[in-house]
Amino acid sequence: MNNEMVQRQLSNKRQELLMTIGGIRAGVMTPKGPVAEDDQASVEHEEFISFQRNNLSHATLRLVDEALDRLETGEYGICLACEEPISAKRLNAVPWAKHCVPCQERMALMEADMRPMPAAERVQAFM
Ligand SMILES: [Zn+2]
Repeated sequence: MNNEMVQRQLSNKRQELLMTIGGIRAGVMTPKGPVAEDDQASVEHEEFISFQRNNLSHATLRLVDEALDRLETGEYGICLACEEPISAKRLNAVPWAKHCVPCQERMALMEADMRPMPAAERVQAFM
């Protein structure tokens, strides 16, 4: 895959994420009117879910932006931790990956101890 193709792929993903984020925001802003007390819990639950999804989209958007930056500087496809090239297979699956599989797995293990919320990249590592 050449740089131009990667850039196109990342730009498409970027658009998609921006639309997701915009869509969620629009949904949250829709006036709901008075909510019966019984419904309150489920409304809060829905808001929590879109908040989570929004967070994940924001995190991925940041990764995509960083990947586009690295494409510009010629650092794309190099693991930020060990500076080895990231495998083409991984970049095909996750074009915005910034760590190779061994480093990613090592970090996921470390993060699992510290952070109960899954980081966007950790979720994508298993896609
Ligand atoms: Zn590495």
